[in-house]
Amino acid sequence: MKRILVTGGAGFIGSHLCERLLKEDNEVICIDNYFTGAKKNIVHLLDHKYFEVTRHDVTMPFFAEVDEIYNLACPASPIHYQYNPIKTVKTSVMGAINMLGLAKRTKAKILQASTSEVYGDPTVHPQHESYWGNVNPIGIRACYDEGKRCAETLFMDYHVQNKVNIKIARIFNTYGPRMHPNDGRVVSNFIVQALNNQDITIYGDGTQTRSFQYVDDLIEGFLRLMDTNDDFTGPVNIGNPKEFTIMNLANKIIEMTGSKSKITYKPLPEDDPIQRKPDIGLARKMLNNWEPGITLEQGLVKTIDYFQKTL
Ligand code: NAD
Ligand code: UDP
Repeated sequence: MKRILVTGGAGFIGSHLCERLLKEDNEVICIDNYFTGAKKNIVHLLDHKYFEVTRHDVTMPFFAEVDEIYNLACPASPIHYQYNPIKTVKTSVMGAINMLGLAKRTKAKILQASTSEVYGDPTVHPQHESYWGNVNPIGIRACYDEGKRCAETLFMDYHVQNKVNIKIARIFNTYGPRMHPNDGRVVSNFIVQALNNQDITIYGDGTQTRSFQYVDDLIEGFLRLMDTNDDFTGPVNIGNPKEFTIMNLANKIIEMTGSKSKITYKPLPEDDPIQRKPDIGLARKMLNNWEPGITLEQGLVKTIDYFQKTL
């Protein structure tokens, strides 16, 4: 039985990860400061004999003896990470230093939840891991993008300098049950608006693209990445390569919910990437033929069902 630490374990992705790791007969320690996560995301796990939760902020050191660490703590939606940008940078950078220090001391394997945002507003399409990105270092998204880029640097430096066993996952837009209804990300926003028959807010003209991955596919990718040979560090893209315009997504959600919502247009936020789609060749090769198995329609059915029950 492995003892596994999940930072940000009470968040959307973290809660699915804790659930899966427990199902695979591991002991799980979840730490979270509940900034964007919630106890209700993990309340169904609290009775599990091998599940522990601690309220803890990753900008402070954490001590425990662990075999593996998944470092997910960080607000992920633009409205939340822009709420206190300095704290966002601290969470990514100091959180990485603290967790890498823990990994170094305990000789634990450590996986970083990095992001497609390291590619910024990409000039290369689809995005391959070898692309260095196009990020505005002083824009409103910089606290998140540059924080995550610096975390990748720290991971690589701890690996080279201190032989820490690291894995870097570059996650592309992921959605599913337990997203926060007000977290401002496009899938949850559109579903909540559609279910309430409110206007669907498209930012810009809706021609910008994203590639949406259902959360279960990501979790499978995480576990396979953690299990790769010690000499494979990544970064590796984990995302669904099927690309949609935001307009496509809005129409699909209106149709699937049978909503009376109309579409309205709002200004495109500063530095909003125009296109995004992962090249998943490396993931296929290194993660034992991993690829997303859940289509957007299948994932939306489950996510709409969740919001119908929650709202
Ligand atoms: P989320 O906001 O639901 O989860 C983040 C969790 O981290 C929350 O539970 C929050 O309370 C916790 N947290 C934030 N700051 C903390 C701190 N200082 N100390 C301890 N806990 C803290 O977001 P999510 O979508 O589940 O994202 C999880 C991770 O995956 C994040 O690191 C995010 O950057 C990364 N990621 C997510 C996506 C996506 O599309 N969902 C895409 C790329 C990367
Ligand atoms: N978006 C939108 N309406 C919304 C929320 C988001 O049109 O109510 C757009 C946003 O401008 C971006 C895309 O949807 O172009 C994805 O936004 P999200 O915040 O989900 O993720 P990210 O931009 O970080 O990929």
